[in-house]
Amino acid sequence: MSKELSIFLDQARAYLMQQQDLFGNTIYTEGAGKKTAGSRADTIAYPDEPWVSAASLPDLYDQIHECLKCPLGQTRTRFVFGTGNLRADVMFIGEAPGADEDAQGEPFVGKAGQLLNKIIEAIGMKREEVYICNILKCRPPNNRDPETSEMETCSPYLLKQIELIRPKFIICLGRISAQWLLQTNESLTALRSRTHTFKGSTLIVTYHPAALLRNPGWKRPAWEDMKLFMGLYEQSKQEKLT
Ligand code: URA
Repeated sequence: MSKELSIFLDQARAYLMQQQDLFGNTIYTEGAGKKTAGSRADTIAYPDEPWVSAASLPDLYDQIHECLKCPLGQTRTRFVFGTGNLRADVMFIGEAPGADEDAQGEPFVGKAGQLLNKIIEAIGMKREEVYICNILKCRPPNNRDPETSEMETCSPYLLKQIELIRPKFIICLGRISAQWLLQTNESLTALRSRTHTFKGSTLIVTYHPAALLRNPGWKRPAWEDMKLFMGLYEQSKQEKLT
């Protein structure tokens, strides 16, 4: 193989891996993925189960933490409900627990979590001040992407958490939570740099911290997302004062 061909193949492989990281296994072409529907909030139906009337997050946790509704319940170590301020203005939503989270029962406690903590500090907040959770409460084996059926089964819990917290802002960490909540196939790139709404909250999409660890070059655009958030948050606080 010629040296030029080998360099070309390396570059093509790196590009495809980056695309896969952002967009999953779907290859997007110009104009594709433009389907913008309402949001998941319009389509998630609560099951006819007692936890639906939980009046607080601790009450909700008590009622759901032994959930065995999908096969992940059988393989998890800990149910990873969520952590933080029960009246948070800002809710960060990731994808699913990883190994560290599964072991400790708390979201974002591994390397990606350490970076998330730094991001939270950089926007002038503390981890205890925000609320952090995931679409899935149990770890998918080998950290694979959540399956649609798992998200369908688990996301009513998240919806209830959002309903109880009523955050002003939701920050979706990565493609999976953003696409799921906004019920769209649009790419992460297309979903960033603008605001969306979800159940009355302003929703902002940014890179997943694990993706930032793999691709430090994305930290700059992620910071732009956080600046968008900070501007809007400041504005919302001013509006409250007047
Ligand atoms: N990645 C996630 O999406 N969530 C976690 O809790 C940890 C890693």
